[in-house]
Amino acid sequence: MKKHILVIPGDGIGPEVTTWGKAALEQIADAFGHEFSFDEALMGHASIEVNGNPLPDETLEKAKNSDAILFGAVGHAKYDNDPSLKVRPEQGLLKIRKELGLYANLRPILLFDELLNASSIKPSILKGTDILFFRELTGDVYFGEKTRSEDRNTASDLMIYHKYEVERIAHKAYQAAMQRSKRLCSVDKANVLESSRLWRETVQEIAKLYPEVETEHMFIDNAAMQLIKDPKRFDVVLTANLFGDILTDEASQIAGSMGMLASASVGDGTGFFEPIHGSAHDITGKNLANPLASILSAALMLEIGFGLKEEAKVIIDAVDQVLKEGFRTNDIADGSTNPYKVLGTQEMGKLVLKFISQKVITQNS
Ligand code: NAD
Repeated sequence: MKKHILVIPGDGIGPEVTTWGKAALEQIADAFGHEFSFDEALMGHASIEVNGNPLPDETLEKAKNSDAILFGAVGHAKYDNDPSLKVRPEQGLLKIRKELGLYANLRPILLFDELLNASSIKPSILKGTDILFFRELTGDVYFGEKTRSEDRNTASDLMIYHKYEVERIAHKAYQAAMQRSKRLCSVDKANVLESSRLWRETVQEIAKLYPEVETEHMFIDNAAMQLIKDPKRFDVVLTANLFGDILTDEASQIAGSMGMLASASVGDGTGFFEPIHGSAHDITGKNLANPLASILSAALMLEIGFGLKEEAKVIIDAVDQVLKEGFRTNDIADGSTNPYKVLGTQEMGKLVLKFISQKVITQNS
């Protein structure tokens, strides 16, 4: 298969971890005879420093002309400490999502058995959890009208949804449910919010087109509670932008660390694959960042972006092996981890590559 991939490392630990996601893709291409070509572009603070713009036209152009994008993270302490700064790294991320028409954020909560103890939830409750979240990305309070009264004491954010926005992500979620265990839970607040009533009515209509899928509707407050109480009850979860933002961060704790979770933002064009974590200034440049989320983002690109399931599985199995053999980065090491097996970013990246090549050799022999 021939694919052109744009790498946007971004800021902070972005470049440190993206190196390994890209390296995993290169290795898979070599092993399976695919032709992946790569280009690189600036975004976020790194881009503001060079040309004053968090998303230059050149980056957008390259993004539109690629088959998939591997992204690191954007952000810098300078902007976190001064909310009044007008030009900001995250503007680049919001704009590229909009320009590429990325309306669905997919976040698989993939739990490796070896990390059961890294979560604050009891292992017996977690074991066997496998959830795929679909968070809507283009509507809701993020994009509705914002107001502030003249005296600055009253503010509002419009929570707005259009039917077509719900329909298109619902189709994607149902299609995924058909490939998995045919269970889908749609999360809303239809007892209170009109936009949620539109959401629920629309999902009910789409559900009729997928009669094999068992649909459940749940209020967000209950879903937040059930996710911790009994995460295994969920398979595909479909929800709006704000609820999804909160619920998926809550769910990240099921997997033990932000450093383990990948996500995909997709629409009808180029897909965008990234770790869920940010630029982590506190550990930047210290060889402490966990590269596994970026490596798993590469696996997600192969599976969801290119339909290369076997190749994606090789990466996931290599990560599983690293963990099974007791290797950890600092963020996922617990009190019982052998100190000699706590690795830096680079050592962890190299080890995953080594296991990928071993798996490919075993498969082919
Ligand atoms: P963060 O995800 O960067 O970090 C939260 C905590 O998790 C930190 O203690 C960090 O050290 C740790 N962490 C994150 N990724 C890790 C990894 N791969 N390995 C080991 N530990 C890891 O979130 P934050 O601290 O709230 O934000 C820092 C900056 O990142 C801010 O400027 C924020 O705006 C930005 N941000 C960007 C994105 C994005 O680009 N998608 C997402 C979230 C935050």
